Amino acid sequence: MDNCIFCKIIDGSIPSKTIYEDEVVKVFLDINPLAAGHTLIIPKKHFKDFDDIDLETLNHIMKVAKDIKLRIEERLNPSGIRLLQNNGVLQDVKHFHLHLIPTYNKDMDLNVDKVFEILK
Ligand code: AMP
Ligand code: ZN
Repeated sequence: MDNCIFCKIIDGSIPSKTIYEDEVVKVFLDINPLAAGHTLIIPKKHFKDFDDIDLETLNHIMKVAKDIKLRIEERLNPSGIRLLQNNGVLQDVKHFHLHLIPTYNKDMDLNVDKVFEILK
């Protein structure tokens, strides 16, 4: 899709801090994290939102989400992790993405480069 930021991340024309990828998805750190380790999982194929995406791709995204959630827990030790997916006016980037947003009961360094070294 032309002019889709996340399609440009997939094709490499926009850089990303990628911590996992396979033939179906790319997983990278959010550029404006709500907390250390705020991560996005996106399909490589352009789907607009929850209505648009097929169940097979969604199932794969959820399988990857389970693995990445465990990785974040093991390496950053959050007190909880929220899964979030926005649609309609709530969705800024119109390429399906699942947020993994950790929360901490201690102060965490938000430095994305440092978090990337830990999670990649
Ligand atoms: P949403 O409101 O669910 O569409 O969230 C879009 C998310 O994408 C926001 O949390 C942004 O910080 C994030 N985002 C936008 N551009 C980039 C980018 N180039 N790399 C990583 N994350 C991005
Ligand atoms: Zn796209």
